[in-house]
Amino acid sequence: MTVKIDLKRCNGCKNLDAPRCEKLCPGDLMTLNPETGKAYIRSEADCWDCMVCVKACPMLAIETKLPYTLAYFGASLKPKTGKDKITWTLKNSDGTVETFEIETRF
Ligand code: SF4
Ligand code: SF4
Repeated sequence: MTVKIDLKRCNGCKNLDAPRCEKLCPGDLMTLNPETGKAYIRSEADCWDCMVCVKACPMLAIETKLPYTLAYFGASLKPKTGKDKITWTLKNSDGTVETFEIETRF
């Protein structure tokens, strides 16, 4: 699996000292395209779907591409990080939407 970046949403974290996805990816896979100022993944094959970048993006611009064995093609999974919980929204390929709330631990 890998991640998908919505280039319309990504603003390069211009208001932060560094792009969050670039700063936090444990594989050093995320960086900004110097021409567009938008994020991209250097090597999709090396992404192991830890979802750190997905959860950390302040613009909700990154989503996980799910394999068909989990949710069929066209499905997407996006988190919205709150103060004490993360709400995951799963859009199925048939258009149905499911949400899951997970409390965060500190
Ligand atoms: S964290 Fe999100 S908004 Fe920031 S550079 Fe990465 S994809 Fe773009
Ligand atoms: S899901 Fe994890 S390994 Fe993959 S690009 Fe994001 S932070 Fe890096």
